[in-house]
Amino acid sequence: MEKTCLKCGLVNEEAAGAPAEACPKCGAIYAKVEQASAAKQAAAQKAANEKAEKERVEATRAAAREEQARQSQQRADEQARSAALASAVCMACGHVGNAKRKVGGTFLAEIGLWVSGLFLTVTIVFLHFGMLLLFVAFCYSIWRVLSRRRRVCAKCGSETIIPGDSPRGREELARQGLLRP
Ligand SMILES: [Zn+2]
Ligand SMILES: [Zn+2]
Repeated sequence: MEKTCLKCGLVNEEAAGAPAEACPKCGAIYAKVEQASAAKQAAAQKAANEKAEKERVEATRAAAREEQARQSQQRADEQARSAALASAVCMACGHVGNAKRKVGGTFLAEIGLWVSGLFLTVTIVFLHFGMLLLFVAFCYSIWRVLSRRRRVCAKCGSETIIPGDSPRGREELARQGLLRP
């Protein structure tokens, strides 16, 4: 029978096929060399399988991490979006954020008007002037109370602020890249 030595490559056409037969050229025992070769192949196959499995697990993990990152990015975008929509947009300077309340006049002027009006009224001599002052004080107080509703830009003080969730507000937010269309 024909036997090829796995060690030196000699083709032995007169091999007997005996269990302990050796290669006539290099002396290697066919069975042992074949066994070693098979074991080597099996080990290589096993290592390749393990590597493929490891890569598969790693790819699955990477995909999961990517998905997680995508989701948290989406949540952050969503939060930024609702925050932008809930904010005030200044049409003068483009500031996006909280508007601040701006009360007209000063507390001191209000008190001064009331006190001097009352004082002049009780002195009788300047009764009419005192009453006029009280009227002014009254108007001043009303004006201050009404002005409480006024909101101005926290950055530039402009009164041209609009809600973020309005057509023009959305337009401005989109222009600033705070709102994806
Ligand atoms: Zn040989
Ligand atoms: Zn502003």
